[in-house]
Amino acid sequence: MKLLMPSATGVEVVRAFVAMYRGKMIQSTSADVIDYPGVLYNVTGSTKDPKAVKGYKGLAWKALLKEYPDFYETSCYVTNPILSKRATSHPGFDVGGHMTPNPSGVVQRGADSYLMPLCKWHNSTRRNGTAFSHSKTKVLKLRGYMEGDSAITFAMRMGNNHAHTLLFLAPGSKKWDFIALSDAVKQGFDRVPLKAILTSPIQEYAIFEKRDDGFYIVSSNISEGGSKD
Ligand SMILES: [Zn+2]
Repeated sequence: MKLLMPSATGVEVVRAFVAMYRGKMIQSTSADVIDYPGVLYNVTGSTKDPKAVKGYKGLAWKALLKEYPDFYETSCYVTNPILSKRATSHPGFDVGGHMTPNPSGVVQRGADSYLMPLCKWHNSTRRNGTAFSHSKTKVLKLRGYMEGDSAITFAMRMGNNHAHTLLFLAPGSKKWDFIALSDAVKQGFDRVPLKAILTSPIQEYAIFEKRDDGFYIVSSNISEGGSKD
């Protein structure tokens, strides 16, 4: 089944992320497929967590899972006998569910978290605090997850050793994308100053600088409300 593109693909989540971490260290990230047979719980986010944004929840995290062959063809992992007649979405692979072994659903800064295929019903916040058993054990272990993180800001940092990375929202688009600044230059921006690169046609942007094992936002015109500074 092809998922419909949601009306909001995390536009506000990324704005909030940039606002939250301006001037602060943002952890590098990595992801590895591992075996994890133990029970897992939905991550309960703050209001700034991607899960709080209607239409965005999990969609892009699913795309991250789909980059690994272990998750090409699969279905909702959960095997608990807690299905009700309302669980019509089960056993679909609707979202990449953000999971933790912590029954409270809280992921401490720097702690690992896990992604696994879930249907919408099992991913619902109403299932928070429920211990999910699963017979399939391949999950994607995430390192460097931070409060307010989104799939795009997480993926942007994964294995990224470029000095500067441009995160941008194209005009008329509800989708964030990113490119190494050095690659952007190679693609035809090499004879104009940076300021010109970042005015038109690109609208909102943030530049992330890699320092040691973390990233810092060194330039951005994004404000949390979405208007330019
Ligand atoms: Zn399910």
